[in-house]
Amino acid sequence: MIVGIDLGTTNSLVAYFTEEGPKIIPNRLGKNLTPSVVSVDEEGNVYVGETARERMSLYPTTVAQTFKRSMGTERTYYLGNRAFKPEELSSMVLRALKEDAEAYLGEEVTEAVISVPAYFDDKRRKATKRAGELAGLKVERMISEPTAAAVAYGLYDKNQDTRFLVFDLGGGTFDVSVLELYHNILEVRAVAGDNYLGGEDFTQEMAKLFLHKAKLSMSQLSEKEQVRLMKAAEKAKCDINDGASVTMSFLYQDEMKEEVITAKEYEEACEELLMKIREPVKKSLSDAGLKLSDIDEVLLIGGATRLGIVRDFLIRLFRKFPDTRLNPDETVALGAAIQGAMKERREEVKEVILTDVCSFTLGTEVVVEYDEDKYEDGRFCPIIERNTVIPASRTERLYTVRDNQTTVRVRVLQGESRFARNNLFLGELEIEVPKNLKGREAIDVTYTYDINSLLEVEVKGVSTGASKKLIIKGEENQMTDEEIQKRMEELAYLKIQPRDQEENRLVLLRAERMYEESLGDRRQIIDRYLTAFDAALKRGDHDEIREAREDLIEILEDDDGNI
Ligand code: AMP
Repeated sequence: MIVGIDLGTTNSLVAYFTEEGPKIIPNRLGKNLTPSVVSVDEEGNVYVGETARERMSLYPTTVAQTFKRSMGTERTYYLGNRAFKPEELSSMVLRALKEDAEAYLGEEVTEAVISVPAYFDDKRRKATKRAGELAGLKVERMISEPTAAAVAYGLYDKNQDTRFLVFDLGGGTFDVSVLELYHNILEVRAVAGDNYLGGEDFTQEMAKLFLHKAKLSMSQLSEKEQVRLMKAAEKAKCDINDGASVTMSFLYQDEMKEEVITAKEYEEACEELLMKIREPVKKSLSDAGLKLSDIDEVLLIGGATRLGIVRDFLIRLFRKFPDTRLNPDETVALGAAIQGAMKERREEVKEVILTDVCSFTLGTEVVVEYDEDKYEDGRFCPIIERNTVIPASRTERLYTVRDNQTTVRVRVLQGESRFARNNLFLGELEIEVPKNLKGREAIDVTYTYDINSLLEVEVKGVSTGASKKLIIKGEENQMTDEEIQKRMEELAYLKIQPRDQEENRLVLLRAERMYEESLGDRRQIIDRYLTAFDAALKRGDHDEIREAREDLIEILEDDDGNI
């Protein structure tokens, strides 16, 4: 059984896929959320979740939390008298979730899809995978949290291309991701965030407001009173959603202090926090080359998106209602469970191509001319670089290095070294080229790499048009030849050069014709926009292309809107 796990900073959840769809598995206490908190006592006993959190006030030096933030770093946590790395602590949370799932399902759980923040780099992803392995789970797939949210909302099932923004405000972190569904591929286009903004800051504002009204200051309170105040503020923050005001009470030096706080006062107090939210939203949109109005759907995840003032703020910002059908705490785990079902090829779920990043570089061996007529062979030429969003297709043009060379051999390599010999050899292809002077013949080498560890290598002679193909399957890939064939067909569109797409070709031709037909200033203007469009086509970013194409069309149109 493959389960989906949301390994969160504050809480973690596990879900599985049933015939009626994905479902959260309650933990041994019957709760859906397991706090991502671990405690290890002097004897080496491990406590996870709520029990570990309870130990916080009694044995603070034996408890660790928010370790997800340090995932993939060398940071060490000392609990009791032992040292732990973040992935070891995470593995304890994962093990507890695994055990709870096994007890609930009555069968062994051996495999999991684990969600990770979209911005997690290779190192952090690997640490997460290791945490899974330490917990006895095979983790073949990881899914980025915003993608999981989109999957849980069923957005992958849309027929038309859609852009959406996933707004994730948790206890202490804030992430915004812009995703695009394009030709059945779900891609994270941009991410931005603030690692130090979350629901806790909104609790702080509530506490400050209370202290101000009660004419008290934080420094007057004992440590225990401060903890009590924060608890009361947390409750008031959650309750204020239900009405226009809330009465917050708190025991100060044996006296019960009570203050009424109105929603309006609270909103004013949080104004600065709301402004802070705006920045990453703007950044992610500008990185994705989009405007606020380009977003078709807004999804909310993370507990703090339940805050009424946050929701109202987003409605005003986007001028649309966010989709909140699902419980914001559970969305990511549900999406991870669906991804598990996709992996198992369950019939109930349509498979969609989810993007991920490639964790290594794929390239080929080349000869480099470092001085006139001086060559160094055995060098590595990257084609798909590490951290490229996959599936991806990239082409590199290589030239002959000898006069009258008749064949070119393409060695397919994986690794990061500048030298081919240090990288992993995956396969090779050879293609014939006509005899000619060196550098006069070329081949195009196209690598297409997919999330299922499938690499297609295509080599094409530029002057002859002849081509050869090789498909390399990663070790973990279990697909049959037929499935591979089907997947490669689905990915074929990646290889269509934007220049060759009908719509683009037409606009290019028209613009070229109008350039020839016009003179003076108009000619220069057309030239400028045409050059920009051409450059966008070369870069291959479909949004940039669309925008440049629209700009060019606008220039070409006459007063009646005809070209
Ligand atoms: P998460 O890290 O996603 O579990 O989010 C935890 C944050 O969500 C905490 O700051 C909680 O105070 C906040 N939160 C949970 N429920 C509510 C609610 N009903 N109203 C406002 N904030 C909430």
